[in-house]
Amino acid sequence: MSYIENSALFLPKFELKELGPVKYFNCRELDNTNLVVNAFSTRLGGVSKSPFNSLNLSYNVDDEENCVAENRKIILDALNIDYRTAVTAQQVHKDKITVLKEEDKGKGAFTDSDAIKESDALITNIPEIPLLMCYADCVPIFILDPVKKAIALIHSGRKGTELELTLKTLFKMKKIFKTNPRSCVAAIFPSIGPCCYNIKEENKIDDYWLNEIKYNGEPLSSQNKSGRSLDLRKANYRQLIKGGIEGKNIFVNELCTADHPELFFSYRRDKGNTGRMAAIFMLRK
Ligand SMILES: [Zn+2]
Repeated sequence: MSYIENSALFLPKFELKELGPVKYFNCRELDNTNLVVNAFSTRLGGVSKSPFNSLNLSYNVDDEENCVAENRKIILDALNIDYRTAVTAQQVHKDKITVLKEEDKGKGAFTDSDAIKESDALITNIPEIPLLMCYADCVPIFILDPVKKAIALIHSGRKGTELELTLKTLFKMKKIFKTNPRSCVAAIFPSIGPCCYNIKEENKIDDYWLNEIKYNGEPLSSQNKSGRSLDLRKANYRQLIKGGIEGKNIFVNELCTADHPELFFSYRRDKGNTGRMAAIFMLRK
C-alpha cells in the first residue's frame, strides 16, 4: 500500500517528514514561527513487535519498556531532542491541565509511573521542555502563543471534548500567561474522523453532541443507519474558535487514523490491542 501516493497527505499546511525509516507529520505554520519544534509521529521506523509495530511510544500498553524507550530515542533523536528530557503525563480522559515547572523535565521518560499525574493537557512557557502526549484516535491539539511564548499540548478524546478541555486550556493560558487568543496559532493533527467514529447506542451519547446543533448551524454529530457519528475534530476546532483563536490561525490535518493502518495505530480499528503515536511540542530557546 502506498501512502506516498495518497494526495491527502500533501495537505498544504502539513508535511510528512522522513528521516531514514522514521516518518512524522509537521505543521509548517507552527514551524515558520521559529519558536517551536512540533511533530506527530506515525507508526513507522521503530523497534516494537506486532501489534505495537513498530514505533509505539507509550509505556501504558503491553509493549516491552526497553522497546518503548528505544522508540522514544529514535523519534526524539530525529527532532534533535534529548529523549531523557521529554515530559509525559498519565492520560485519563479528564480535564486537568498541568502547568509545568523546570523540575518536571524528564518525568515519564522511562516509565509511566513517574509521569505527570492524571493530566490531559500540559502547558508551559519554559523553553526546552519537550512535551510528549500519546494517541491512537484521540485528537492532538497544539496551541502556540507567539507573543508570550507559551505552548499547550492537549489530548482530547470523546470525554475530554465533552468536558471542553481544549477551551479550558485556552482559559488557563489566559490566566497564567496572559495569553491573547487572537495572537495564537493552533494545529490539530491526525485523529479518528467522523467516517469511523460511530456510536450505536443513542442513549449513551452526551447532550454535548446534540446541544451544539442548537447554537451553531453545523452539527458536530450526524445520525445514520447504524447510530450516530461524532466529529471530534470539528468539536475541538469549535472550542478553539469559541476560546477566541481566529479561524485563519487554526490548521487541521484531516487524515483519519482508523483509515490508514499503514501509518497509524487506531484504538477503535485494532480493538484496543495496539500502540500509540506521540505528539511532541517544545518551545525553542
Ligand atoms: Zn475514517
